[in-house]
Amino acid sequence: MSGSLTRQQAKTAIASRPRVESTFDFKAAPTSGVWAKNVFSLTKMAERLPKAVFKSLKRTIETGGTLDPVVADAVAEAMKIWAIERGATHYSHVFYPLTGLTAEKHDSFFEPDGAGGTLAQFEGKTLIQGEPDGSSFPSGGIRQTFEARGYTIWDVTSPAFIMENPNGATLCIPTAFVSWTGEALDKKTPVLRSMQALNAQAQRVLKFFGNDGPFVSSTAGAEQEYFLIDTNFYYARPDIMASGRTLFGAPPPRGQEFDDHYFGAIPERVLAFMFEGERELFKLGIPAKTRHNEVAPGQYEIAPVFEFANVATDHQQLIQTTLKKVAHKYGMVCLTHEKPFAGVNGSGKHLNYAMGSAKAGNLFDPGDTPAENAQFLVFCAAMIKAVYKWSKLLRAVVASASNDHRLGANEAPPAIISIFLGDELTEVMESIATGKPVKARKALLSVGVDVLPPIPKHSGDRNRTSPMAFTGNRFEFRAVGSSQSLAGPLVALNTIIAEQLDEAATLLENSDTSTEKKLGAAVEKYVKSVWTECSQVVFNGDGYSEAWHKEAEQRGLPNLKTSADALPNLKAKETIELFKKYKVLSKREVESRYSVYAEQYINSVNVESKLITKLVRTMIFPAAIRYQHELAASLANLKAVGIEPDHDTITHVTGLIKELQNLIAEFDQIKEKEESIGTTEKHCEYVRDRVLPKMAEIRAIVDELERVVADDLWPLPSYQEMLFIK
Ligand code: ADP
Ligand code: MG
Repeated sequence: MSGSLTRQQAKTAIASRPRVESTFDFKAAPTSGVWAKNVFSLTKMAERLPKAVFKSLKRTIETGGTLDPVVADAVAEAMKIWAIERGATHYSHVFYPLTGLTAEKHDSFFEPDGAGGTLAQFEGKTLIQGEPDGSSFPSGGIRQTFEARGYTIWDVTSPAFIMENPNGATLCIPTAFVSWTGEALDKKTPVLRSMQALNAQAQRVLKFFGNDGPFVSSTAGAEQEYFLIDTNFYYARPDIMASGRTLFGAPPPRGQEFDDHYFGAIPERVLAFMFEGERELFKLGIPAKTRHNEVAPGQYEIAPVFEFANVATDHQQLIQTTLKKVAHKYGMVCLTHEKPFAGVNGSGKHLNYAMGSAKAGNLFDPGDTPAENAQFLVFCAAMIKAVYKWSKLLRAVVASASNDHRLGANEAPPAIISIFLGDELTEVMESIATGKPVKARKALLSVGVDVLPPIPKHSGDRNRTSPMAFTGNRFEFRAVGSSQSLAGPLVALNTIIAEQLDEAATLLENSDTSTEKKLGAAVEKYVKSVWTECSQVVFNGDGYSEAWHKEAEQRGLPNLKTSADALPNLKAKETIELFKKYKVLSKREVESRYSVYAEQYINSVNVESKLITKLVRTMIFPAAIRYQHELAASLANLKAVGIEPDHDTITHVTGLIKELQNLIAEFDQIKEKEESIGTTEKHCEYVRDRVLPKMAEIRAIVDELERVVADDLWPLPSYQEMLFIK
C-alpha cells in the first residue's frame, strides 16, 4: 500500500534507533513545579480578577447559572493577558462531538489595528460563545446541513487551559456544543444535565440525614489501558493505521501465558515516555497518579486521581490526546483500540464511580456511625436497583464495534451486566432483607441503630471479572472501552441513579421518619424491597466462567453480545422516557445518538472490510504465491536430481490460497448485498450476522498462511515483533 514501510525497512530502522536521551532537565525543573502551569485555574482567576468579578464567576461555577456579560468581558480580558504571557497567539473553543473525539477550531487573538499594527482581541462574547460550522459533525439528523449552525458555549465548571506546541501555544476553552434550537450535539452537554439531575434527587434523600445543601457531584477516576508499538511497525501495518487494530496476525509463540508482564519492570524507552507524558498532563492540571505494565506484552495503564465527573471526562480526552502525542516523540504509537491484537488481552477503561458533596462526603463510603450507614445503604441500594433495571442501557452505552471484541469474547468483563458487592456487603443486604443475623456478629442488624460490620476497601478477593464491582467506597464500571469517552457511561449512571434516588426519596417522604429509629425502619423497608426485587443482579463469582453464563440466563439477566444487540436499547421507549423525565436528553437527542452510534458501528466495520480485501489482494496473495512458486521450483529441482520430493507443504499452501480466493469472492458478494439494506437496525444485524463472521473466516486462513509461508516473504510485522520489541 502506498506510503507504508516494508516489514524489513521497519526492522532495520528500529535496529538503528539511538538510545533515548533526556528531553528536559528534570532535576532543574521538577515536575512538581509545573502543576497546573497551563491552566487558568480558580487560583489564577482570584489573583487576576477584580474581587467582585471573581466572586460572581465563582458563584456561577458553583451554582451553574449563566454568566453576566460584564463579568464575561472582565474574565475574557484577564484570560487573554494570561494566555499571551504564556505565549499563546490563538484561542480555540474545544468541544466533544458525538464522534467521541475532540474537536477544535483555532482563531488568532490578533487582528490588524488599521494603523499598520495588530491588536489582541478577545471579548466576553467570544469567550462565552463560538459558532463553528458544525455541519460536518454527525448529529443523527438533528441538524440538516442547510441549518448548519451550532454553538459552542463555555463550560465555566471546566477551566480553560493552554496547549503547547514546539512552535506556539493555543488557549483552549472547554465548551458544550448545541444546535441553534438548543439541542445537544455533543457528549458534554448531557453530562452536565445528568449531574444536575443527580444532584436534585440526591438532595431529597440527604435531607433526611441532615446532609443536604452543597452540590452533590458524581466523581470519576478512569484507569486507561493502552498499547505501545514502535512507529516503524505502525507504518508497516496498514490495518493498524486505518482501523486501529490488526486484522490479521498469528499468535506469537510466546504470549502472556507466563503472566510476567503485569507490574513488571517498565522498559526504559516506555518509562521515559511516561515521565514526559505525565509532566505534560501535570501542566494541564491532570492529576496523573498511577502507571504500570498491564497483563499483555506491550500493554500499559495510566490512572489519574478522581475528579468531578465533567472535569474527569474532559481530562480523560486530554489524556488520550497527550499519550498519543508524546508517544510519537519517542518513536512509538499509542493504541487505544479495545482489541489491537487478537488472542492478546484487550484494553478497557475502568471507570471508578462515586458521588459526594462537601458536606456529605463520599456517599458510597460506609460510615462509622449508624446514621452514616443508613445513608450509605440507601445510596447503595439505589445503585443496585439502577444497574438491575437498566442493565441493557449500561451495555448499550459501552457498545462499539471495537469494544465488542472484548465484551463478547472470553475476557474481562462479560457482556452480562452484574454487580459484585463482596461477601461482607452482600451479607449485610441479605440480613436486612431476610431478617437473619449477620454471621460475623451473630446478631440481627438494625438499620439506624447498628454500625455495619467493617467492609474492606481492598479485600483480598477483589473480583476482577465483574463489569460493575464495589471496591469499598466506589463502583468500578469495567465494561467501558479504552477508546471511549467517559461521557456516555457517566450520563447513564447519573441518570439511572437519579431515578432510583427519586424513588427512595418519595418512599422516605411518605413514611414516618420523625425519630431516628423510625427513619431507620423506613430505610430498612426500602433496602429490603430493593434486595427482594433485584438481588439476582448481584454476582460475586467468576464472571469469565461458562457456569456463570448459564446461571445468568437462568436468573434472566440479559447477555447482549454485540453492538447490534445492545444499541437498539438506547432508543427503547423506557430509555427515552427516563432521559426525558430527568431532562437529560429529549426524544430527538436520544434517537440521534442511536443513529450516530449505529452508523459508527457500520462504518468502522466497513473500513475494516475494505482493508481486508485490499490487504489480501495486494499483500497476502502475492506473498503466498511467491512462496508457492519457490516451493514449486524446489520440487522441480529435486526431481531433476532424481529425488522424489514430498508434496505436503505445497499442497497445504495451494489449498489455503484456493480457500482464500473463494472466501474473498464470497465476501465481495456479501458486501455488494450490504448496499441494499434498508434500515439502520437491519444493517447492524447484517454486519453482525454476515460481514463479521466472514471476516473471521478470512482471518483464520491468512493467519494459517502466516504460520507456513517463509518468514522473509511475509509482508506484515508479526505479533512477536510488534509486542516484544521495545
Ligand atoms: P485499581 O487498579 O486497584 O483498581 P487504581 O489506583 O489503578 O486502582 O485506580 C483507582 C481509581 O479509582 C483512581 O483513579 C482513583 O482516583 C479512583 N477513585 C478513588 N476514589 C474514588 C471516588 N470516590 N470516586 C471516583 N473514583 C475514585
Ligand atoms: Mg488499576
